[in-house]
Amino acid sequence: MSPIVKVESVSKSFGPTRVLEDVSFQVEPGSVVAVIGRSGSGKSTALRCIDRLETVDQGRIEVCGHDITAPGLNLQQLRRDVGIVFQSYNLFPHMTVEQNVMLAPRLVLKRNRAELRHGADAALAQVGLADKAGAYPSQLSGGQQQRVAIARSLAMSPKLMLFDEVTSALDPELTGEVLRVMEKLAADGMTMILVTHEMAFARKVADEVVFMHRGKVWEHGPAAMLDAPVTEELHNFVGSSL
Ligand code: ADP
Ligand code: MG
Repeated sequence: MSPIVKVESVSKSFGPTRVLEDVSFQVEPGSVVAVIGRSGSGKSTALRCIDRLETVDQGRIEVCGHDITAPGLNLQQLRRDVGIVFQSYNLFPHMTVEQNVMLAPRLVLKRNRAELRHGADAALAQVGLADKAGAYPSQLSGGQQQRVAIARSLAMSPKLMLFDEVTSALDPELTGEVLRVMEKLAADGMTMILVTHEMAFARKVADEVVFMHRGKVWEHGPAAMLDAPVTEELHNFVGSSL
């Protein structure tokens, strides 16, 4: 099987600031890649480049068979294939949970009402919130709202899911329920790239870990590399996040 994501020698600057430098890694279908590193090391930018929320200056990125750095990219198809979840969940407050989850499938996939209901129910069941379909976001905890945001992505039947520090804004007692949902998705075979500070979670769920430092892939390997860092930078990072 060929990789579902190929990042090849990608560099990117914001003005004079080099944010990504010769970044390369691959993601195999059905695998989980955790991207770790200090704040400002380029993790979010790398993820945003994969969803084409940012363009790259140099290098090439292939995602789900799309060369997303080529001119003439079908951006709409890319957005269907890739789901992305951020730290802020941004649900529409005036819509119910089910309406939030059905919105993109309704507008983008043009599904009929019965298909929309079925898809939303299935996605909400995947995140353990089947009973909250009629609730409004304000009636839910932060952890539940983040799970709705995950369901909203799942309703599009993505081939790849990107998670950017999705538990960072949550109180510690609410992170577990969101991590459990992601762990179950991984176990069910979803291909995922996740930026996380949750090192225990990365150890447990990730097949591969990418440690970024100063815009570069500093170390890269199976999750076991966290227990035997080669570089001083990873050693210090792992030590500081115990
Ligand atoms: P991380 O997610 O690892 O914390 P980011 O990818 O968000 O790192 O940021 C990497 C660097 O790029 C930081 O120095 C940040 O200030 C800078 N940066 C990110 N986005 C922008 C932007 N839109 N404009 C200018 N600088 C940015
Ligand atoms: Mg970030």
